[in-house]
Amino acid sequence: MNRKTLIKEKLAKIYEASIPDKEDLEFVLSIEKTDELGVLFDFANKVRQEFAGDGILLRGVVEFSNYCNNTCLYCGINKNNKTLNRYSMSFEEIIASCEAVVSGGIKTIVLQSGENTNLDPDWLRTLIIGIKSRSDVAITLSVGEEKRENYRLWKNAGADRYLLKIETTDRSLYEMLHPGMSFDNRIRCLDDLESLGYQVGSGIIVGLKGQSIESVADDIIFFKKRNFDMIGIGPFIPHPATPLVDSKRPEVNMVLKVLALTRIVTKNAHLPATTALGSMDKDYRADGLNCGANVLMPNFTPLKYKKLYEIYPGKRCINDLPGDCPRCMEGLAKSIFRYIDYSKGDSLKNKKVKTNV
Ligand code: SAH
Repeated sequence: MNRKTLIKEKLAKIYEASIPDKEDLEFVLSIEKTDELGVLFDFANKVRQEFAGDGILLRGVVEFSNYCNNTCLYCGINKNNKTLNRYSMSFEEIIASCEAVVSGGIKTIVLQSGENTNLDPDWLRTLIIGIKSRSDVAITLSVGEEKRENYRLWKNAGADRYLLKIETTDRSLYEMLHPGMSFDNRIRCLDDLESLGYQVGSGIIVGLKGQSIESVADDIIFFKKRNFDMIGIGPFIPHPATPLVDSKRPEVNMVLKVLALTRIVTKNAHLPATTALGSMDKDYRADGLNCGANVLMPNFTPLKYKKLYEIYPGKRCINDLPGDCPRCMEGLAKSIFRYIDYSKGDSLKNKKVKTNV
């Protein structure tokens, strides 16, 4: 049998499986030839079209604070980076940024920050209520690991979704990269978020030092088992103020392979063409959108703060004004014969809605 036919058969098997075979995933992750990669990317693109359509959803991101207590080895805003000026946006500044998101016609606001033990849960609760009372938007939180009690407080205030990437499902690699944190607590957080009725997003960093193809195959199986509503897959980009400064960057094709397989396996999860994918040696977001992705994340952090939310270097559009992104994304969508879908873009999974739990 020729290789392309074999690959098509493997992909069909992965697509059909309730839990995909790890060896099949490893086989596909090892593909390197351009024409063979084309078979994978086309397959994923068709699955995306069937389950998520041609619309590209937008999520307006507001990075409201870069204070962090953690020391994640890859992350530029880790506590040990003493060269970074720290900021927290005021309540009014955040509301103004959210209003900019809304005037751009975008109906999802992502509030992201470092993990700050000084974050006042009631302050965030009031902020959520404030945003929700002003406009009909979905709110996604991305503020790290918290007590269930706080997750509940924010859910009941009106938060709809939560992003918490598992980063890697390899427990020992996870604990090596995240000093003082535990893999079990990460899973506990994801369990709590799900049982509280959040639409839950997770994901991984591709190309971490010590991450094998085998462990990436495990990550993809994990996505399938957890039935996440959203999954973010981005390349590792070494940051100069971290212990991983000298680590190798991944090949873009490895990131695209993981994205494509995640689409084929999860079918209707929302998958962003991440900002990190747009911040490699060139902008690969169109490639991501052509092999499974259906979401883009325009940045609405005010210019003076955006530069300071440097989780990795070379973050794209660092000098563009908030509000420039959507227009640029319209162009990106058009260039690949797709369109921007300005709806809220709730989960496509069929889960029961929970309130006040
Ligand atoms: N404090 C929040 C948000 C973290 S920043 C939380 O813990 O969830 C959002 C994401 O940026 C992280 O989940 C991580 O996957 C990614 N990230 C951080 N440093 C990175 C790097 N050097 N290269 C690529 N992605 C990185």
